[in-house]
Amino acid sequence: MIQPDKPLRLGIAGVGKIARDEHIPSIGRTGGFVLSATASRNAGVDGVAGFRALDEMLAGAPELEAVALCTPPQVRYDMACAAIAAGKHVLLEKPPGVTLSEVHDLVDRAQAAGVTLYATWHSRHAACVETARLWLEQRTVTDGHITWREDVTHWHPGQDWIWEPGGMGVFDPGINALSILTEILPFAVHLVRSTLEVPENRSQPIAASLAFAGPGGAEIEADFDWRQKGPQTWDIRIETTDGTVTLSQGGSRIAFDDSAPKPGSDQHVTEYDRIYRRFSGLIADGRSDVDLAPFRHVADAFMLADIKPTAPFVE
Ligand code: NAP
Repeated sequence: MIQPDKPLRLGIAGVGKIARDEHIPSIGRTGGFVLSATASRNAGVDGVAGFRALDEMLAGAPELEAVALCTPPQVRYDMACAAIAAGKHVLLEKPPGVTLSEVHDLVDRAQAAGVTLYATWHSRHAACVETARLWLEQRTVTDGHITWREDVTHWHPGQDWIWEPGGMGVFDPGINALSILTEILPFAVHLVRSTLEVPENRSQPIAASLAFAGPGGAEIEADFDWRQKGPQTWDIRIETTDGTVTLSQGGSRIAFDDSAPKPGSDQHVTEYDRIYRRFSGLIADGRSDVDLAPFRHVADAFMLADIKPTAPFVE
């Protein structure tokens, strides 16, 4: 991998929760990029050139080499098209868009423009995911269970976009579990059952119950629920003929059989530090990274859905 001799100038579109909590601190820590501009209607970053829209940022800060799109997914495609057309390397927050077709189109556009397109899956960079992947690589998986239960009112206060078409409801966190699953399993699975609970006053699911089939009769079940009060659960348990591995706390803890969960060795490096290192490496190597497996499973879950109306959601 060729390392650039100086940090690349990066612009962020959408200065919201994830940009503030993770992107901006990681850009400051990892060294491959310098935050040079932002595009956001209602927010900015002290000391950084601020624009109200992406097109204004592309016109007003032509020195930018890369753009990170941290907006909700519904507005990402148009922004990505504009950034690619302007010759910028593009980082997409998860999920990479609102349809599979628009992301395929972005892949073609990035390739034609000779820029890097990086569809990020931050949970794949949690501290124990790679350990689980390596452990499972040589084993025979028999079944597994994902439990991803959190309180939407705590994690997404006032975020209307998650309830609108393309926001994907409970799949906004659930796709993180699927991104880990598709990373650690030594084979591909396909969806065989999907039950979605949709509040009567919303268009997107608040809970999902899924089943996936794999080779040799392996079955993986997933239970996503946004109504969890009290302790929050982000666990993936995979059974093999040779023992069990459990990832907990979103992949930051690991346990084998019934041992106590242990943290990964380098907990001080955050998921987003690893994302920015990878973005830098992809740019240096002239490559893109767009793995649509987690997104495809969500599309399948909507396609195969047995929809159960449920109680209205009131924040
Ligand atoms: P958010 O707080 O709602 O922020 C997104 C920002 O994008 C907004 O503050 C808004 O800033 C801008 N924006 C542009 N067009 C918008 C539109 N049509 N509707 C709403 N906002 C618009 O959302 P977020 O939690 O940061 O999530 C953004 C993306 O990151 C999502 O895809 C999410 O899945 C992903 N993500 C979130 C988290 C998390 O913990 N929240 C974790 C990992 C990944 P202006 O009003 O200033 O334009």
